[in-house]
Amino acid sequence: MGGLTAASALKPAGDGGNSVRMKVDFDADAVSRPASTSLRRALGVLGDPWTMLILKDAFNGTRRFGDFQRNLNIPKQTLSLRLASLCEHEMLYRSYVNANAGTVLYVPTAKTFDLRDAMYSVWLWHRANPGPVEALPFDLVHVACGQVLKATYCCTACDGPVTPGNMTIQRTQPEQVDPEPRPRLSRRNDQAVTAASTESSGMIAASLVGDIVCNEILYRLAQGPLHLLALSRDLQIGQPVLRNRLNMLRELGLVEESKSGRRSTFHMLKRAEDFWPLILSIAAWGDRWCNRGNPPPEVRIHACGNLLSGRYRCDHCNGWVDGRSVRVVPHGRDANEGPNQAGERQDEG
Ligand SMILES: [Zn+2]
Ligand SMILES: [Zn+2]
Repeated sequence: MGGLTAASALKPAGDGGNSVRMKVDFDADAVSRPASTSLRRALGVLGDPWTMLILKDAFNGTRRFGDFQRNLNIPKQTLSLRLASLCEHEMLYRSYVNANAGTVLYVPTAKTFDLRDAMYSVWLWHRANPGPVEALPFDLVHVACGQVLKATYCCTACDGPVTPGNMTIQRTQPEQVDPEPRPRLSRRNDQAVTAASTESSGMIAASLVGDIVCNEILYRLAQGPLHLLALSRDLQIGQPVLRNRLNMLRELGLVEESKSGRRSTFHMLKRAEDFWPLILSIAAWGDRWCNRGNPPPEVRIHACGNLLSGRYRCDHCNGWVDGRSVRVVPHGRDANEGPNQAGERQDEG
């Protein structure tokens, strides 16, 4: 191998770069235990297209089993497994409102509300790339300026925008591996991607982002182009599964393949940069909630030299966007009228 791995493709912030130019050979141990990343830890919890869709609905105020089922057109058994898993991961809790009638509400926790930047990303993506089906039954309005939200993901240290090109990702030393092997990526997972993206068409961003492989591919390719083989080794994913996801990403216009001889190299396309805030917010969320007291597996550094702490900034008024400054408004309703139901719910967390 020419050493074209994500590790060597990283451009170190300083010029030394020794910490980044890691060994690129993969010994047997590394093969069985891939290095952890912030994103992978987070996706261990979120890593399923349905899960992300369920959380999106929970954000919108859905609380009852039947409502989730109707809104998402999701098989009952799948829904009940996902809800149980989300409760286990403390993303939702069960609230028994009427013991006699057996009414259960699934209520998001602080851990879930802390994902709001990722949810804004999904919303912003769908607004910028409308699908055949109306996927956004509500608007997000920035309270400070009263405009429907249009925002850019920016560094809170220097206020500048954050793009794959102006930041670096460095693994922390010693390199961390996860104690458990990565979950098996089975055919069932493939079907979940397909089901979630076709049955609620227009939900491409939400279902893609719930897919571990697609996320990891974009996360890696944002750090530089990679050969199929290097990608497969680096992510510890078999080539058939990898091919399948790369094809999906290509069809969506997010990734491009170029061939030289027998080798295929993959690049991330400009359009995929819109996913970057989503992936970064999920990785940052993973650092906050999924490390069990360990240091994060990697650090992300902005071009200004600071550790990246990104947030959305309103394009209209330049104000920062957070849970308290965003109002959820049904389509066609004036931003300033009526109670802010969904906003109040957000404060529960
Ligand atoms: Zn900065
Ligand atoms: Zn604003």
